[in-house]
Amino acid sequence: MKRILVTGGAGFIGSHLCERLINEGNEVICLDNYFTGSKSNVVHLINNPFFELIRHDVTHPYFVEVDEIYNLACPASPVHYQFNPIKTIKTSVMGAINMLGLAKRIKARILQASTSEVYGDPLIHPQPEAYWGNVNPIGIRSCYDEGKRCAESLFLNYHRQNSVDIKVIRIFNTYGPRMHPNDGRVVSNFIVQALKGQPITIFGDGSQTRSFQYVDDLVEGMMRMMQTPKAFTGPINIGNPNEFSMMELAREVIDITGSRSEIIHLPLPEDDPTQRQPDIALAKERLNGWEPKVQLREGLEKTISYFDNLLKSQP
Ligand code: NAD
Ligand code: UDP
Repeated sequence: MKRILVTGGAGFIGSHLCERLINEGNEVICLDNYFTGSKSNVVHLINNPFFELIRHDVTHPYFVEVDEIYNLACPASPVHYQFNPIKTIKTSVMGAINMLGLAKRIKARILQASTSEVYGDPLIHPQPEAYWGNVNPIGIRSCYDEGKRCAESLFLNYHRQNSVDIKVIRIFNTYGPRMHPNDGRVVSNFIVQALKGQPITIFGDGSQTRSFQYVDDLVEGMMRMMQTPKAFTGPINIGNPNEFSMMELAREVIDITGSRSEIIHLPLPEDDPTQRQPDIALAKERLNGWEPKVQLREGLEKTISYFDNLLKSQP
């Protein structure tokens, strides 16, 4: 049994990770400031004596004895990370410094949840890890993109300078149950709109693409990455290479829900990447044959069923 710290553990991805780690017989300390996460995401774990839930902000130091740290604390949706951009940068940068300092002191292995956003609006397609990216350093997405890029730099430098045992994964768009219904990300937006019979809001003409990964595939990939040999630090892409335009996604959601929602077009946000697809050759090679198993239709069906129950339970 390992003792494992998960920052951002009450969020969408973090709650699935905590659940898997507990189910595999580990002791989990879940740390969160509940900015975008909630206790309800982990309420089913709270009575487990091997699960601890702690309210804490990663911009402040935190000390605990653990074997492994998964650093996920950071708002992930543009609406939330742009709400207080300075705080977003602090969360990524000071959060990384605090957690790396802890890992150094207690000699724990630490994994950083980085993002495909480090590639910005990519000029190379699909994106391999060796690509340095095309990020606007002063635009409205930069609080997130540059915060995450700086965190990657901190991770690699703590490794080179202090031999901290690090792992960096670059997560591509991930969806599934427990996404925040109002967080503004495209999958949750389209599903909630379709279920409520409201217009489906496509930003721009809907030709921009993303490659959507179901949360279970990500959790499997990140746990495998945590078990790789010390010499392998990453960064490594974890995503599903099947790429869809936002128009295709909207049609798929309408088809599965049987919704009568109309599609409307709203202005495309500034610096919105036009295309994104992970090159996952490295992950397949280094993560013991890992590859995504849940394709879009199946993943959407599970996610739609979650939101359907959630909306029915809310007055
Ligand atoms: P989320 O918003 O549901 O989860 C983030 C969690 O971090 C929330 O529980 C939030 O309350 C917590 N948090 C935020 N700031 C904090 C702070 N200062 N101190 C402590 N806790 C804090 O988002 P998610 O989709 O679960 O993302 C989890 C991680 O994965 C993030 O680091 C995100 O950048 C990364 N990621 C996610 C995606 C995706 O598509 N979902 C893609 C790339 C990277
Ligand atoms: N998007 C959209 N309608 C929405 C929300 C998002 O068309 O209601 C678009 C958005 O402009 C982007 C894509 O969907 O091109 C993915 O957006 P999301 O915020 O989910 O992720 P990110 O842009 O960070 O990859």
